Amino acid sequence: MLPKEELKARVCREIDNGKEEAIGLARTILDNPEAGFLEVNTAKLISLKFTELGIPHRSGIGLTGVKGAVSGGSSGPSVCVMGELDSLIIADHPHADKATGAAHACGHNVQIAMLYSVAAAIVKTGVLPSLAGRVVFIAVPAEEGIEIEYRYGLIKQGKLHYCTGKAEFIRLGEMDDIDIAMMTHTSADLGNQKFAAVESMNGVIRKRVRFIGKSAHAGGQPHKGINALNAAMIAITAINAQRETFQDADTVRVHPIITKGGDAVNAVPADVRIESYVRGKTAPAILDANEKVNRALRAGAMAVGAKVNIVTIPGSMPLVAYPQLWSTYRGNAVSITSQQEIGNTGHRTGSSDIGDVSQIMPAIHPVCAGASGTPHGNNYLIKDYQLALINPAKAMAMTVIDLLADGAIGAKEVLAKSRPPMTKEQYVKSLDGLFAEEEYQG
Ligand SMILES: [Zn+2]
Ligand SMILES: [Zn+2]
Repeated sequence: MLPKEELKARVCREIDNGKEEAIGLARTILDNPEAGFLEVNTAKLISLKFTELGIPHRSGIGLTGVKGAVSGGSSGPSVCVMGELDSLIIADHPHADKATGAAHACGHNVQIAMLYSVAAAIVKTGVLPSLAGRVVFIAVPAEEGIEIEYRYGLIKQGKLHYCTGKAEFIRLGEMDDIDIAMMTHTSADLGNQKFAAVESMNGVIRKRVRFIGKSAHAGGQPHKGINALNAAMIAITAINAQRETFQDADTVRVHPIITKGGDAVNAVPADVRIESYVRGKTAPAILDANEKVNRALRAGAMAVGAKVNIVTIPGSMPLVAYPQLWSTYRGNAVSITSQQEIGNTGHRTGSSDIGDVSQIMPAIHPVCAGASGTPHGNNYLIKDYQLALINPAKAMAMTVIDLLADGAIGAKEVLAKSRPPMTKEQYVKSLDGLFAEEEYQG
């Protein structure tokens, strides 16, 4: 049984030694972006790396997810390190895929490289016999809840049940054998800080909306048509009219896009589609805003006599804070930076399905520096791989050691001091309760 400090020194040394390889992996993924539930090649790449490391794993979980695990010298809790496989779609990003517009504008490519670095550090350095429990490595699909039409199609075909990867992992029972989860997300706005805790994040509901009108000659006989685009525009204006009723403390965000505005310019649009998120800090705030959005959508249909089909799909749950787990991670982050370089972002108005995981087990999603540009913008890039990849890999590998060394005393303490709000069964039930489809004839 090696002392904890020796275990930590070994994993950090290995991460330093493997730096160029990890950066190469991050760059390869940057240049080969794949959006959620389509990350076939990215998944193959990490699967290959797991094979090279001798990590037993399975692929194709939740369509494209990869899960591997290794065991310590004795039994104990399971600690999971996650990395997200998916890109966004930002067609004018310098590293965008020319055919699909997919682009890594959220830094998930370095997350997979971090995951690899942590895995290599744990399995190549002889630390495992000194750990009590299992270390689980998950490359998880589809964190970004985009392309709702495509994912709703997969749900209809029975290939998916939820529209993000971690929710699907939970439902499939792939998180049942895990006690504690962590990941690290890159950030471009930390100032002088190198790491920061994310205290909470908005939850989200997703909408797929279809306005159905009647086509007719747009010049000759528009009076014989029903203009679905006009219905959609009135609906979006009506959504905007709700904004003054959203309370600041609820941090509600509603941001619809029109994904189809018509078929041909000389025909009255008869099939117009909208996708939207409805985000908020708490479940009641999200549900209240969601009902207002539904009302606005009906109003658009009512105004022109169109029909509207509103599909509501559960998205991600709000993120829950776990101070005990963060304090373990924080201690390790300090050891490679300094007290002054560790911050706290407070509440964030974006959403992530790590929120779902945090509803059922201790899970953290701190952010690290090293990116530049605007998140989800065409200029978001990793500018410092030491900060964005090597540092967080070390912080997570050392946190695994803290949790599972010395008979897993650290993990046991985290578990004793953490109170996840729900069981897995309660989580699945509450998510399933959000599915809704209504058709309204205006
Ligand atoms: Zn993102
Ligand atoms: Zn992200």
